[in-house]
Amino acid sequence: MIIVGAGPTGLMLAVELGLAGVRALVLERLPHPSEIKKAGGLSGQILELLRYRGLLERFEAASTGLRPAPRLPWGGMHVDFTPLADPPMQVMPLPQPLLERLLGELAGELGAEIRRGQQVVGLSQDDASVIAEVRGPDGQSRVSAGYLVGCDGASSRVRDMAGIPFPGITYPEVQRLALVSVPDSVTLLENGDIEVAGVGRISFGFTRTERGEFALGSTNPALMGLYTSEEESVDYDDDEPMTVTELRDSIRRVLGVDLPLGEATRLTRFTFHARQVERYRDGRIFMAGDAAHLFPAPGVALTAGMLDSVNLGWKLAAAIHGWAPAGLLDTYHDERHLAAARTLLHTRAQVALRRGYDEAAVALRDLFQELLADEQPLRRLGALMAGIDIRYPVPGHDHHALIGTFAPDLALRTEQGTTSVAELMHAARPILLDLADRADLRETAREWRHRVDIHTARADHRPADALLIRPDAHIAWAATMDEPTDTAVPALRGALSGWFGEP
Ligand SMILES: Cc1cc2nc3c(=O)[nH]c(=O)nc-3n(C[C@H](O)[C@H](O)[C@H](O)COP(=O)(O)OP(=O)(O)OC[C@H]3O[C@@H](n4cnc5c(N)ncnc54)[C@H](O)[C@@H]3O)c2cc1C
Repeated sequence: MIIVGAGPTGLMLAVELGLAGVRALVLERLPHPSEIKKAGGLSGQILELLRYRGLLERFEAASTGLRPAPRLPWGGMHVDFTPLADPPMQVMPLPQPLLERLLGELAGELGAEIRRGQQVVGLSQDDASVIAEVRGPDGQSRVSAGYLVGCDGASSRVRDMAGIPFPGITYPEVQRLALVSVPDSVTLLENGDIEVAGVGRISFGFTRTERGEFALGSTNPALMGLYTSEEESVDYDDDEPMTVTELRDSIRRVLGVDLPLGEATRLTRFTFHARQVERYRDGRIFMAGDAAHLFPAPGVALTAGMLDSVNLGWKLAAAIHGWAPAGLLDTYHDERHLAAARTLLHTRAQVALRRGYDEAAVALRDLFQELLADEQPLRRLGALMAGIDIRYPVPGHDHHALIGTFAPDLALRTEQGTTSVAELMHAARPILLDLADRADLRETAREWRHRVDIHTARADHRPADALLIRPDAHIAWAATMDEPTDTAVPALRGALSGWFGEP
């Protein structure tokens, strides 16, 4: 297994492969880990997955904690989740360099080898293997493997070399985001506004001007969170850091004032694209993360890329171990293309909301804001933002509603004591969870016991008689309540061999 790129997607893939008993080789062009603080943290469904892996505490220990999202920017508005006791969005502040260090350590513990200073410059494949041409400090070399995954970011060379189209658009706007300390000449008021000596009051939240958009907000009384968005068609390099001067100039252009700025703890600049690869697979080459999709709104890319890896890891491991059923590797495209298309749906909608400056656009945002004061739409949007409402496509019809969804974390009682679905998923192995003492189903699954763990448990309000759960925590099959043996057993057999190969 070759993984190109040691960003969050590539490292998460190395972790998932390691959990499935496959040692990956990660080739990274940079000689040292990048210190650029791109993403500020994790949010949404990847946090739930890390909890299911038993890894969340390790990430929490490195962050300032996991907390329910209070108010999040969305489409030029703030979506306020505070009325919900259990908001669907959770956020964990964890600067990207720290996230990559943690993932790199984990991948190493699980047997992955990360080779830095190694740039993949050529690719070829045949029926048996894929060969990467690699340029490093000691010259050019070749590495071959059964499969190669391009986790090499937005300007992916792997994607280009594999000839995979990446259609979509780049918006001619530049966003700048910063956290700076509050200087003496600025007073932070209780409602979040600021009073600036010689300038006057600047309101909390979004301010639109003819030149673009400015936003002020912070969750820390010692810091000002600042944001600008302007129409600019400059092609900035993500690796070129932003400066305080650049931010000050942008604020002057957008807001028309010279805002005094303290010391910066975070400074980032980004351009928005809406793109998705046409194919996530070309023979033995796969695409994941930013190399496969770019979304025109913040806060969703890390989750999407790391979840690509969770989906792909166990499937590639099955192929390497030799038990992958026909078509298993193709489900990666079907499932993750659909997931990214859903993320594109709400991020593109945000572009339309955010970029409208006339009265009609203001009315549209006001209407959205009004709708989001009601619990149901707020929950629905939160689930969409978090990516928890994904249901992978299910071949055929007439299926249990849970099939294709992320397994709920049921509290379970077993003969050995209490446990939960999340705890059973720590090993990242397939599970048959028998919730109704169904000896017929357990007996059927016994033939797959080397690959599939079988657990019998009781749950309050069980959603099905049994659940077959994949290593990525998505439900492969479910028995309806009291489903007769003559339909349940053949269906379970079909699901077991369809997902986990012949016994
Ligand atoms: C300023 C900024 C702020 C952001 N904020 C957020 C945020 O708040 N939340 C969020 O979810 N996302 C955010 N993002 C997006 C997030 O950083 C990316 O989605 C994420 O880094 C993608 O991870 P990746 O592993 O897919 O790709 P990358 O992180 O781009 O990693 C790709 C790796 O591949 C390596 N590579 C490239 N080509 C080769 C080659 N030929 N051979 C070997 N190695 C190669 C690169 O050096 C790099 O290390 C932000 C991005 C930017 C630029």
